[in-house]
Amino acid sequence: MDSSVMMPLSPYQIQQRDALLMVRRYLEQEGPAEREALCARIADYLDYRRRLDRFLEDHFHHLCNVTCYQSALSACCAREAIITFFAEVVVNALVSSPTDLDRMMARLSQPYEGSKCVYLGPEGCLWRVRPIVCALFLCDRAEREVLAPAPDLQRRWQSLRDEAQRFRWPDRPVLFDELEQRFMAAGCRSPLMYCSTSPGLLNVKRRAAAGRQSS
Ligand code: SF4
Repeated sequence: MDSSVMMPLSPYQIQQRDALLMVRRYLEQEGPAEREALCARIADYLDYRRRLDRFLEDHFHHLCNVTCYQSALSACCAREAIITFFAEVVVNALVSSPTDLDRMMARLSQPYEGSKCVYLGPEGCLWRVRPIVCALFLCDRAEREVLAPAPDLQRRWQSLRDEAQRFRWPDRPVLFDELEQRFMAAGCRSPLMYCSTSPGLLNVKRRAAAGRQSS
């Protein structure tokens, strides 16, 4: 192929890039007080993510390091377009340095031909707080070798998985939805605002609201 012909950005890259741009602009425009308020609001979620990371580090690090990094057989990070909620872009922007975000922006602004996730760099994932679908992903081997023989670990893993719903599943007021609403009130719109646009999640909200009214 003629190397002077530039590949276009994928629709996924464009959506991700636009969401990140929007969040950075919002944080710049709204100033330190809003940043502080948002940081306070996400503290509970960050605590959850620290506990989740610690669990993964304690029980899966050896297997992941040997299997994935050393043999390059990883099943993780192998898809170009993983789901990220708009709220996750916000959380990540709040805990990242400008340099981290510039690096992400550069990756999203250049045509990408790799077969793995667009966020996977030579030193690993470009997110400071990885998308929750990534953090909750365990490959078959990890489930078989680590979880299957240890019922107590299975219970703790399930409990961490269930806890994620407390932040993202809008059958009650949840952080992910609240952050979307906050940015929407300032005029922001993004296809990553799934709590506000996904027919499935809107249905969950409607059913939950009807349930609350009838009880
Ligand atoms: S976002 Fe990060 S953790 Fe998730 S698939 Fe991409 S590189 Fe892997």
